[in-house]
Amino acid sequence: MSSKILILGDGASGTIMANKLRFLIPREDADITVLGNSPMHYFKPDGIHIPFGLKMPRDSVKPAKMLFNYGINYVQDEAVKIDVNNRKVNGKSGKEYDYDYLIIGTGDRYTPEDIPGYAESALHFYDYNSSIKLRDALNNFKGGKIVIGPSSIPYQCPPAPYEFTFQLDQYLRNRGIRDKTEIHYTYPLNRAFTIANVSEFVEKYFEEKGIILHTLFNVESIDAKSKKVNSLEGESVDYDLLVLIPPHRGQQFITDSGLAGPSGFIDVDRYKLNYGNFDNVFALGDATNLPVSKAGATAHFQSEYLANRIAHEISGDVYFESYDGAVACTTVTGPGEAITLYFTYERPPRANFNSKMDYLLKWTSADTYFSGMVRGIM
Ligand SMILES: Cc1cc2nc3c(=O)[nH]c(=O)nc-3n(C[C@H](O)[C@H](O)[C@H](O)COP(=O)(O)OP(=O)(O)OC[C@H]3O[C@@H](n4cnc5c(N)ncnc54)[C@H](O)[C@@H]3O)c2cc1C
Repeated sequence: MSSKILILGDGASGTIMANKLRFLIPREDADITVLGNSPMHYFKPDGIHIPFGLKMPRDSVKPAKMLFNYGINYVQDEAVKIDVNNRKVNGKSGKEYDYDYLIIGTGDRYTPEDIPGYAESALHFYDYNSSIKLRDALNNFKGGKIVIGPSSIPYQCPPAPYEFTFQLDQYLRNRGIRDKTEIHYTYPLNRAFTIANVSEFVEKYFEEKGIILHTLFNVESIDAKSKKVNSLEGESVDYDLLVLIPPHRGQQFITDSGLAGPSGFIDVDRYKLNYGNFDNVFALGDATNLPVSKAGATAHFQSEYLANRIAHEISGDVYFESYDGAVACTTVTGPGEAITLYFTYERPPRANFNSKMDYLLKWTSADTYFSGMVRGIM
């Protein structure tokens, strides 16, 4: 009997999962359906290059449907309700989808509305259109005070704000206006990054480059008139240009379906990725509440485990492996330099040295992603 696998989300995790499953499971043994609501698939890591004119935005997107391998049923529809007890998902189109296995890869959403004053005053580089808007604002920038930071935790790709800041420092030097600009970096924790040794590494470069760090800065509000950003902890910093990563939550329909609280992030088993007592409902990627970085690389490692597990089960076999919390991030630390961080639940990353090879890895990552990773062949 053929199994029905339903995947929600057509971003990194949904696409990688579908393609890996299709490679592993014969077509007669499983139907694979993906529900997704984004016609274009944007490679978000390029958001640290686009604002500086280093990459053409059009090179960072591909039509979503082009990325699915043969034998996958890709449906443009938005999931609006999940009923795990009756194994059903309702789509916005009015259609109902049933399943034997459900995989939730609907990522997160940005909630700037959580911060009064955000809409009138802040820019960011966390989606396609916003990166282009920020590029235009930077083109018109002649000097002054730039404040950058994540407004709160969690947020996608924890290194991205410091990567952007190092790129900004170099961009301003290239334009000859670094000496006319103060760069301030705010961070919600008591250091510059979530992980202690990476934080030390980053702070060393901040000091070298004259980037001023404000720690314990969780953004509460922005006063657009007086151009001040205020923290929950009671500090205010004024700015001429504010680059603030908006707050993140999981999707509203996840909360509405009772699978998560107001944060929208789903609690799953940290090793098995299944939701509650359901052995056939899984979440991966940014949609989960796991204590791992919200990163495409996380989704990639998780899908390696999950696709193999489901393929083994469908073939009547048992899969003894589990997800070990693996994440790998190559992060820019300066002009032509980057560092690759690899870690698991048990093993913290080493943050020893930069290299040009790591920068090359980062620079070519959109090509690697679209040609190999997202196709499920890596
Ligand atoms: C600036 C920036 C830099 C980054 N750099 C890196 C990096 O260097 N390395 C790295 O590994 N990661 C990086 N990331 C993070 C990475 O892009 C994300 O973690 C990754 O995309 C998460 O994959 P996902 O599938 O969980 O979510 P997404 O890729 O966001 O996909 C979710 C998909 O679900 C769809 N969806 C949402 N709701 C519904 C619904 N109700 N029904 C159907 N479909 C729905 C969405 O349209 C979307 O296509 C970066 C992110 C940013 C913003």
